Amino acid sequence: MSLLIRAGAVVPATGGVVLERGGVVVSRGRILDVLDARAAAQPFDGRIVEEPDGVVMPGLVNIHTHGVSPSPLFPSGSPALSEERWRANLDRHLETGTTTVLSTCGLGTMEDIAEADRRHPVHVRAATAHTPSALAAARAADGAGLSERHALMTVERMLESGAVAIGELGGGQTLGGGGQDLVFLPAAILARTGRTISQAQARSLKESVLGRFMNERSYRPEALRAAAESSGLADVATEELRELILKTVMPSVGHARHGIREGIELARMLGVPALVHSASASAELIRDLIAERGRPTTIIAGHVNHTSHSADEAVELAIAGMEAGWYAEASVFDLLEGRETVQTRDHWDALLSRPGLVDALATDYGHDGRHDPLIAAVQDVIDAGHRSLAEAVEMVTSVPASLIPGLAEGGAMLRAGAPADIVIARRGDLRDVRRVFVGGEEVVVDGRRATEVRACEG
Ligand SMILES: [Zn+2]
Repeated sequence: MSLLIRAGAVVPATGGVVLERGGVVVSRGRILDVLDARAAAQPFDGRIVEEPDGVVMPGLVNIHTHGVSPSPLFPSGSPALSEERWRANLDRHLETGTTTVLSTCGLGTMEDIAEADRRHPVHVRAATAHTPSALAAARAADGAGLSERHALMTVERMLESGAVAIGELGGGQTLGGGGQDLVFLPAAILARTGRTISQAQARSLKESVLGRFMNERSYRPEALRAAAESSGLADVATEELRELILKTVMPSVGHARHGIREGIELARMLGVPALVHSASASAELIRDLIAERGRPTTIIAGHVNHTSHSADEAVELAIAGMEAGWYAEASVFDLLEGRETVQTRDHWDALLSRPGLVDALATDYGHDGRHDPLIAAVQDVIDAGHRSLAEAVEMVTSVPASLIPGLAEGGAMLRAGAPADIVIARRGDLRDVRRVFVGGEEVVVDGRRATEVRACEG
């Protein structure tokens, strides 16, 4: 049976338009027509969904996600999440309007990604980071989730079997970032001293030895002594502590930086889009890569708003990238709602207030997967006056889809012939997702998985 959705507004994510009181006709899993107010008001033979205060838009496309498949977790190749956890992560993406994700952990095989794709309504697509140095970086940081089939995989073979992008090149876990502070450095200190330190303590210890840019020349002995004292490690010899920190953090950093370069070279050679981890630890390398130019391809700087940059550094680096033809993705992390990992919106506003500097919005992972929903980022950039409704929707639909060919069939636009991946959200607050359709099937009703709704009713 055909379906007509009549809504307060239709945002097709193409042409920058908003169709007030428009409609969308769905038949056999595809969009049959997109209607203006007059056409939508005509009698219709089929099911009609009336959403007078709703906005209809394409299903959201998230190009920076982790923990959405049984693949090794993160660029550190850490053990995969349990099935319950990765499915719950996908549920949350779906319930908040995302119908396509790019898995940017990067070290899974196509079997890992295809399993998630098959077993969940969200379209799960693969990015690959299987370069020799990226794999070495993973093993140096963790690598406990890598089996032989992961370790022997290559970027070329992944692309042949369906991966659509190269990435995430580098990551906090391998570049001495948050993953080091949270997991690896505290574990090394515990193993050596029997004492437990917090993430903040690990960070101040690390930065006293390597600075914000993970550079050995940044060593400040007084700062290390002070950090050791406030971490309950005053009795450990300073030089010994420095050695331990260097030995824990730096091996993966060197490999990871080299892996970024390998990935970019492959992207240029093969003409495939790449997503690069932008942070203070990769900033110098990114500047070098921008300056080198080379054969054109789509290079996306991931989370250009990473708070290891200062806000000014973030803007400066994003401008340099834009001038060289790079694209920029801003990640919401948890800076709007959760605020466990990111407590400032300075970087976000500094970048998004400049027209054209940020191309796409994504989520990344946040602390233990607790990132804000992508739709909250859309609502925020509208509320903050950074973008119009049509522009904001395009940043999470047709723009990311166009940056990565093959990611979303139909280009994540509402137009005749495209798959009926559709979101209806309340216009007053888009975070209130009413319904989600994937391939014409209603999979979310009132913000919850439709199967669960049925199960409760039955
Ligand atoms: Zn990253």
